[in-house]
Amino acid sequence: MAPFETLNLGRGVGDDPDAVRTNRARALAALGRSPDDHVEAAQVHGAAAATVDRRHRGATIPAVDILISADPAVVLAMHGADCVPLLLLDPVRGAVAAVHAGWRGAASDAAGAAVRAMARACGTEPAALLAAIGPAIGPCCYEVDGPVFDRFHAWPWRDEVFHATGPGRWQFDLWQAIRRQLLAAGLRDGAVATVGLCTACHSALFYSHRRDRRTGRTAGLIAPLVRG
Ligand SMILES: [Zn+2]
Repeated sequence: MAPFETLNLGRGVGDDPDAVRTNRARALAALGRSPDDHVEAAQVHGAAAATVDRRHRGATIPAVDILISADPAVVLAMHGADCVPLLLLDPVRGAVAAVHAGWRGAASDAAGAAVRAMARACGTEPAALLAAIGPAIGPCCYEVDGPVFDRFHAWPWRDEVFHATGPGRWQFDLWQAIRRQLLAAGLRDGAVATVGLCTACHSALFYSHRRDRRTGRTAGLIAPLVRG
């Protein structure tokens, strides 16, 4: 039912839990997977990571915004309605990560933290990683104020991702901010793909918290490679 039609995948946003369960089963089935394989994170706008495997199927991992796995038995899910769903694949090790990064995640370098956590957990070489910056609020619709801008005062790319729109107001390019963090963490330039679709602009495709406030959640889904 409105405003959650259709295919809301987020719990805890006011939608009927049975509807969310059905929607998740639909999304997983579209990938040829069982809904039992789903692993999600509590998503607290931080940069902490958890490495999961088949023992975590069906679980919600508390207090993290980064999920990592090399176990093909799981599907990692990261939910959002404007924040970046960032997906990482290490084709050498077969490992993947799903990352949730809004401005707080960018301010704490969740993208870089995910790359370093994959290196520790799975032996990932950053130069081998492929990254997808999913649909998220675009610079066209994302204006921030001084307290947000100030969190990035030491950034070498500040002038590239913030553009003044008025007194105490800046347009923020979250897509480019995440991309810069991935390159700084050692990814190759050509290995970072940005979908470039703004969730606030595309009301027929995406939920947007900034546009609608009370709304559903889309999901970035990724599963480790089957080896052998
Ligand atoms: Zn937009």
